[in-house]
Amino acid sequence: MKIANWSKTLKNNFLFQAVSDKLEEFKEKNPEKEVINMGIGDVSLPLASEVIRACISATNEMGKSSSFRGYSPNGGYDFLKLKIKDEYKNLGILVNTDEIFISDGAKSDMSNILDIFSSDNTCLIPDPVYPVYLDTSIMNGMKIEFANAVEQNNFLPEPDFNKKVDIIYICSPNNPTGAAYTKIQMKRWIDYANSCGAVILYDAAYESFIEDDNFCRSIFEIPESKTCAIEFKSFSKSAGFTGMRCGYSIVPKELKRENVSLNYLWTRRHSTKFNGVPYIIQRAAEASLSEAGKKECQKSIKYYKENAQILAKTFNQLSIKFFGGLNSPYLWIKCPNNMNSWEFFDYLLQNLNIIGTPGSGFGKNGENYFRFSCFASREDVQKACSKLTGSF
Ligand code: PLP
Repeated sequence: MKIANWSKTLKNNFLFQAVSDKLEEFKEKNPEKEVINMGIGDVSLPLASEVIRACISATNEMGKSSSFRGYSPNGGYDFLKLKIKDEYKNLGILVNTDEIFISDGAKSDMSNILDIFSSDNTCLIPDPVYPVYLDTSIMNGMKIEFANAVEQNNFLPEPDFNKKVDIIYICSPNNPTGAAYTKIQMKRWIDYANSCGAVILYDAAYESFIEDDNFCRSIFEIPESKTCAIEFKSFSKSAGFTGMRCGYSIVPKELKRENVSLNYLWTRRHSTKFNGVPYIIQRAAEASLSEAGKKECQKSIKYYKENAQILAKTFNQLSIKFFGGLNSPYLWIKCPNNMNSWEFFDYLLQNLNIIGTPGSGFGKNGENYFRFSCFASREDVQKACSKLTGSF
C-alpha cells in the first residue's frame, strides 16, 4: 500500500495554521485584550430575509409527502438554473441550462474540475493567489508554472505568447490583491488561450463587488471565451452563503479539446462523484436572485464596500500604500517601515491587537504585503482604523 504522491510534495497549510496558533498564544498570554479580526475571508452579515423565507418554505415542503423531494437532479434544479440563466441574460450572455452545474461552492468546483484533465498538463497559477489552486494542482499531479502578479503589472499578469501552458487559473477580482481585469485585459488572455489550446479556469467568486462596467463580471462577456473558458461563481460572498454552500460552474458546449466536449466530461464527472445540492439550499439560492433578494444582498455588499472605503481613507491618511478595495472586499497593503509580512502581522497583533493575513502566505510575491478583509463588522473596522491612526 502506498499513499498519494502529493503527500511528499504538498507543504502544510502554514498560513492559516500559523495565524491561528499565534492568535491562540496571544489570547492565552493576554486574556483581557480584545482582538479585532480583519483577517478572515468569511462574511459577517446574516442572510437576507428573502433567503430565510425560502428556507422555511422549502423545509415545510420537505415535511409533506405531496411536496417532499429526494435526490436533486445532478446538475441542479431548473428553477435555480433558470434564474442564473437570467442573470447571464442581463449581461447580454446566452447560457443554456445544460451548461450550468450547481454545486456546493467554488472551492470544490475549482478543485474537482481537474478530474477532467490529464495530469500531464501544465497549470499556470498567479502568484500571489487563493492557495487552493496550487494545492489542488499538486494533489492532481499537474506541472506548475507561476504568473507573477507584482506592483509593476498592477498585480495583473499578462499572457506570455512565447510560452505554452495548458490550464490557466484566473481569479478576478483577485484574492488577495483585490486587482480585477478589465474586459480589454481579459481579451488578451482569451486570445492567448485560444491560440495555444489552453483552458482558462475563471474564478469569479468576488464578481458581485465589481462596480465598474469596464471590468469583467463574467468571462463570457467576451464571446471568444466560449471556446476556451470555464467559469466558477459562488453564492458565498454575493449572498452570504459561506455556511449554506452553493455555487455553480458554467461549461460552454462550444468548449472542446481533443474533439471531446468538456461539458460532456464535466457532466460525466458530476454525475459520478456528486449527488447534488440540497433542495432547501437551492431554493435559498434562488431567493437570493429574486428582485427583493438581490436588493437585500446588494445592501450587504454595499456595507462591506463602505468598510473598504473607511479602511482606504485611513491608509491614505497614514500614507501607507495599498491596492484593491474598489472592486473587491480586500485591501492589499504594502507593509510599512520595510517590515516583511510576518513582522507586520506580529507588530499589529502585539501592539494594536489587530489580526490580518500575511501576504507571503499567498505566494512568494506576497512577501512584504498584507491582506485586510472588509468582511468584518463596521464597529471592528472603525476600531481598527482608530488604532492604526494612533500608531503610524
Ligand atoms: N474562490 C476564491 C478566490 C475565494 O477567495 C474563495 C473563498 O474565500 C472561494 C473561491 C471559495 O468559495 P466557496 O465558498 O463558494 O467555496
